[in-house]
Amino acid sequence: MLDLLISGCTLPDGRTDMGIGIHNGHIAQIAPGLRAPAHETCQADGQLVCTPFIDAHFHMDSTLSYGLPRVNQSGTLLEGIALWGELKPQLTQDAIVARALAYCDWAVARGVLAIRTHVDVCDPRLLAVEALLHVREQVRPYLDLQLVAFPQDGLLRSAGAHDNLVRALDMGVDVVGGIPHFERTMAEGAESVRILCELAAARGLRVDMHCDESDDPMSRHIETLAAQTHRLGLQGRVAASHATSMHSMDNYYVSKLLPLLAEAGVAVIANPLINITLQGRHDTYPKRRGMTRVPELLAAGVPVAFGQDCVMDPWYALGSADMLDVAHMGLHVAQMTSRDGMQACFDAVTRAPAAILGLDHLGLALGQRADLVLLQARDPIEALRLRPARLAVWRAGRLLASTPASRPNLHLPGRPAAPSFQAP
Ligand SMILES: [Zn+2]
Repeated sequence: MLDLLISGCTLPDGRTDMGIGIHNGHIAQIAPGLRAPAHETCQADGQLVCTPFIDAHFHMDSTLSYGLPRVNQSGTLLEGIALWGELKPQLTQDAIVARALAYCDWAVARGVLAIRTHVDVCDPRLLAVEALLHVREQVRPYLDLQLVAFPQDGLLRSAGAHDNLVRALDMGVDVVGGIPHFERTMAEGAESVRILCELAAARGLRVDMHCDESDDPMSRHIETLAAQTHRLGLQGRVAASHATSMHSMDNYYVSKLLPLLAEAGVAVIANPLINITLQGRHDTYPKRRGMTRVPELLAAGVPVAFGQDCVMDPWYALGSADMLDVAHMGLHVAQMTSRDGMQACFDAVTRAPAAILGLDHLGLALGQRADLVLLQARDPIEALRLRPARLAVWRAGRLLASTPASRPNLHLPGRPAAPSFQAP
């Protein structure tokens, strides 16, 4: 006897009238027209069931702090970093934990069941590290939280950052971070990439660096990251986050760079909401979009995921933990309007980040953990168009969140018929 049978659902690959049988928290059966006895049933009525949304790049130590101690006036990355520096001395562990837990609630309600968050390790107290390690344990029953040791002020530029980063890893932080474009010189940036990759290799950890988050076409730390990944045998374990300078690089150079990334198995994580907002701020017109070259990366065989990056913090006043918002923006900025392009944008917030983060338990296949989301949409493209209600969110077959279907009541004079299209 199944614990739960979800019947009549559509899957992201286009299969319709599918049944998913769940037993002991895992997918026990998956077949068209599946009928089987179950303790509980859910009739999907043709709506889309997918694996949960994953946020591959976030900053949970600063989230929901918008306006503290003041608002970012210029809207630039650099003022955001300065503002975060002003806020850091005022932070308390309790406040970080409370804001992070509130954010995790938002995320789960919107079907996000895994988040990779960078955590600033430049404060010698490691207050944020302790807070987010605590949060990781608190949310473990319902959310996979991966922590990245992130030297926000520069591994070499900030005194003590290297020791703090190592301490953070010793405390249980999962991934090695970095920010080579913020070091004093290009050479020191490259040196930081080497040190951090060697640290990850020695400890068997993954790497996720803020890499070339700049409009400078000569910021080429991603090349160094690919070379170090190749040299140290870290293929498949390294991600370059942002990589916005690639937008501005010379096309000839990029034609050499893309195969290097594919060869090294380096993934790229773009953050469309933030990249379109922070980049191009020194331009008059035309203004660069600032997002990395997503379709070209995908065509070269480089895995690409989208991240939310910021929600209501020193860098960004908006955001709602909705990865469909993120994918929607990514689709527009990258002009990925073909059907395959739109499908790839949906994958960039579901399947692609699962692989990049090493979340092997996720997937719509027999034996996988039953982490699933039922959307009020008939396919991934409609999901992107409507960013609809997350009707049900399950983890290991257990219902974590539900949202009623949205059905507008129209009272239009002379128009008694209900709308025939699926509206939000
Ligand atoms: Zn970031």
